[in-house]
Amino acid sequence: MTAQIIDGHAVAAKLLEDIAHDIEQFTLTHGRRPCLATVLVGDDPSSHTYVRMKRNRCAEVGMESRYVELPTDTTTADLVAEVQSLSADAAVDGILLQHPVPAHIDERAAFEAITPGKDVDGVTMHSFAAMAFSEKGFHSCTPGGILRLLDAYDVPLAGQRAVVVGRSPILGKPVGMLLLARDATVTYCHSHTWELADQVRGADIVIAAVGRPELIHGEWIKDGAVVIDAGYNPGNVGDVDYTGAAERARLITPVPGGVGPMTIAVLLEQTLAAANSVHFG
Ligand code: NAP
Repeated sequence: MTAQIIDGHAVAAKLLEDIAHDIEQFTLTHGRRPCLATVLVGDDPSSHTYVRMKRNRCAEVGMESRYVELPTDTTTADLVAEVQSLSADAAVDGILLQHPVPAHIDERAAFEAITPGKDVDGVTMHSFAAMAFSEKGFHSCTPGGILRLLDAYDVPLAGQRAVVVGRSPILGKPVGMLLLARDATVTYCHSHTWELADQVRGADIVIAAVGRPELIHGEWIKDGAVVIDAGYNPGNVGDVDYTGAAERARLITPVPGGVGPMTIAVLLEQTLAAANSVHFG
């Protein structure tokens, strides 16, 4: 079997087209554009690139962006105050605090300063709890994007054995909970898991969310499985041995061009929803 490629660029492009259309309507109705505030602390080059990509995408769909850049020596109190001020600013609809912040800052405290109605990146405990209880709220963007990809390719989830490798609060843990909410039978694997290969061999759906190049071998993939590789490692390498896995899987995401494009699309979709107060009346 040679897997069909899950084209994240195409799915994201369609979503962005819909968002651009809805932003036009929003602007006509409200006389302003929805606004995403991005907050970047320090000079990590990858973080600068990610924030620039998000701002560029905002411009492409007609969304306004507000850019806050703070020096590396910013204190937790300063960052919390900055985020609180954006939370209180009626002209700002969504807030993205780029992760990671410098190590001396309490990132959790800074995230929690985002008011839930503007937590379009789904990083607060409020958003996580709402997701876990299947209540209204914003999803962590990459997990939300992964579910969108599975739906775009009509992948059945109910009853399916899904193995999520990785359990970070922004990726592995929430994507497993979203799959569980859709009635998949979810197993989490992590750095203490015994016999990872055996776990993966039993999976109808494999979600790789680790950040280790080709940790998941092609021969571990069950024939006909669906493989979603959220990992991104230097040299455009994912967490899955793509060539080996593609020989067995039914559907597979490439790296890059699979999960990545969906993350920003979901961020902008949730910012528009925040502007419309869809989730928080
Ligand atoms: P993270 O916070 O470092 O978490 C990595 C997870 O992998 C942890 O749960 C860890 O287990 C687990 N792990 C580490 N070594 C393992 C091993 N040998 N076997 C099984 N599990 C192992 O990383 P993250 O932020 O979730 O990101 C993961 C990857 O996704 C990275 O490559 C990142 O670049 C990528 N990513 C992509 C997007 C996107 O938009 N496409 C967004 C976010 C992240 P423990 O919990 O036991 O330590």
